[in-house]
Amino acid sequence: MFPRPDPYGALAMPVYHCLAYEFADHKAMIDSFTQKSDDPDYSRVTNPTVINFERMIRSLSGAEDAVAFNSGMAAISAAVMAVAYAGCRIVTSRHLFGNTYLLLTRTLARFGVETVLVDLTDIEAVRAAMTADTCCIYLETITNPQMEVADIRALAGIAHEHGAALLADTTMIPFIHTDARRLGIDVEILSSTKYLSGGATSLGGVVIDYGTFPGISAALRKDILMNLGGYMTPHAAYMQTLGMETLAVRYDAQERNAAEVARAMAARGDVEVCWPGLPGNPFHHLASRQFGGRFGAMLTLTLPSEEACFRCIDALQLVRRATNLFDNKSLAIHPASTIFGTIDEATRREMDVSDRLIRLSIGLEDPDDITADLNRALDIALNSEQQ
Ligand code: PLP
Repeated sequence: MFPRPDPYGALAMPVYHCLAYEFADHKAMIDSFTQKSDDPDYSRVTNPTVINFERMIRSLSGAEDAVAFNSGMAAISAAVMAVAYAGCRIVTSRHLFGNTYLLLTRTLARFGVETVLVDLTDIEAVRAAMTADTCCIYLETITNPQMEVADIRALAGIAHEHGAALLADTTMIPFIHTDARRLGIDVEILSSTKYLSGGATSLGGVVIDYGTFPGISAALRKDILMNLGGYMTPHAAYMQTLGMETLAVRYDAQERNAAEVARAMAARGDVEVCWPGLPGNPFHHLASRQFGGRFGAMLTLTLPSEEACFRCIDALQLVRRATNLFDNKSLAIHPASTIFGTIDEATRREMDVSDRLIRLSIGLEDPDDITADLNRALDIALNSEQQ
């Protein structure tokens, strides 16, 4: 049961655009400021609209706590900082969202945190990278844009043997379908900008703490939010609370559309299609088992050349040329020259971000229309290639 969010019984949680809160007496004030009560004191760290959003996620995930941030990156950096310390090691993959890669390998490196990049699908390599100072294994459930899937339970086993936490960015498949606890994920992190916001209305990020690794949400609420800021804004929480109400149906429809588009693209035979829902995909069985038959709505197409990718993107009429994932609209982007465009070529190569790859996020349009648009744009791009 969700708690009644508003004293007047408003069905949509109102937006509390306020900063400070008045108390009945000094005792109530002390209790709030020393976190003995849940009463909000200051909106940098607590706000009724955001608290309501956090409670809904806690209730749907069965987690111990959920802490909302003003972007996915703020949530990722906060979660990592909750477990990391100078001299520690983070074991992760070179297949990471670009800013996460830069956060771990550049920003945190300046504070004495060592990040070791290993192939997370090679369990023995992961085991070999673990040290007594390893604070966490960090992974993305489906990597963006390489679409790699690692064996999460096996990685959780290794992390826990070494007293480390397993942190997982689950942005690709909504938390309602991830079953993080069963997979051994201690801390789930998502960019709520994506599936949750519903129609790309607002930025946000959430850290979901399953209570299986000590002190995560206390560190987030008492230390990181207090000292670094980055709490979700009330307006974003309002938008994303509405988004959460339609998440399950939107996700189902987008995933169904992604399946149709992936099959239609694969049937062409002249582009390489990557979507873990396709039976021939190398991660199909693992993804089926781990995610209960859910595969997300992001897929990639590999074309013969970078030029062909650009021609295809320029020829699109329905699919939008835009970044973001899981908007209601279908989106296309060439990651190597945009999201990863400021990362040098050697690093991009190391991260397997191919310059022949287009990333698609499949939306809620009629799947026949999406497929027709992609087929037409690909015909233009590939026919010019042959001339
Ligand atoms: N994690 C993944 C897998 C992403 O794709 C993104 C953004 O694209 C982020 C994190 C960062 O989220 P935000 O843009 O909300 O900061």
